Amino acid sequence: MAKGNINVSVENIFPLIKKFLYSDHEIFLRELISNATDATLKLKHLTSIGEASVEYGNPIIEVKIDKEGKKIHIVDQGVGMTAEEVEKYINQIAFSGAEEFIDKYKDSGKDTGIIGHFGLGFYSAFMVAEKVEIITKSYKEGTEAAHWTCDGSPEFTLESSDKDTRGTEIILHIAEDSTEFLEEAKIRELLNKYNKFMPIPIKFGTKDI
Ligand code: ADP
Ligand code: MG
Repeated sequence: MAKGNINVSVENIFPLIKKFLYSDHEIFLRELISNATDATLKLKHLTSIGEASVEYGNPIIEVKIDKEGKKIHIVDQGVGMTAEEVEKYINQIAFSGAEEFIDKYKDSGKDTGIIGHFGLGFYSAFMVAEKVEIITKSYKEGTEAAHWTCDGSPEFTLESSDKDTRGTEIILHIAEDSTEFLEEAKIRELLNKYNKFMPIPIKFGTKDI
């Protein structure tokens, strides 16, 4: 298992993210579904040009609530990530975006478009979650699945996982102040608001959106 510090000069980015976007915590779901959609469309492209030798099939994005466990799961069947890609795209890039974000928008962070614009999309998960896990397996042949965990401090752990299906599962451990997002009606409302006409079908509970 690897342990490390996310590369960021700001001591703790998450309270800042939370504060800036206080009124807009709900965008986490839109951001995570947009990442799942991007990952699925990337795979579609790679298979269509013969770069990925996997069956594209009819992928969906699944959103699940575990009310008792206080968790939300967002599962896709897209390109997935290798451990190296998690290092690069989650630990490094997102946080360089974070520094830029803090510098530029210290005073006007309430603008809802900003967080996605600076590659902070994934980290918006910490607006509602006290801990986030990524379990992911790349479409690339012979790569091992990876399991990343971060509790909102700049520390993370990265270890291997036995996930054997392609794609990414994001697990949000919902914080005490955000338990409204464990309500089915709330999530359904958000999916209808932000994700109604998405290119990849979304499955929530037993119904498709
Ligand atoms: P952006 O989407 O603007 O690139 P994000 O912070 O939302 O920024 O995501 C950072 C990166 O993490 C993405 O560019 C992608 O490489 C990777 N990533 C995030 N979610 C997924 C996912 N579900 N599947 C595969 N890769 C992902
Ligand atoms: Mg994104």
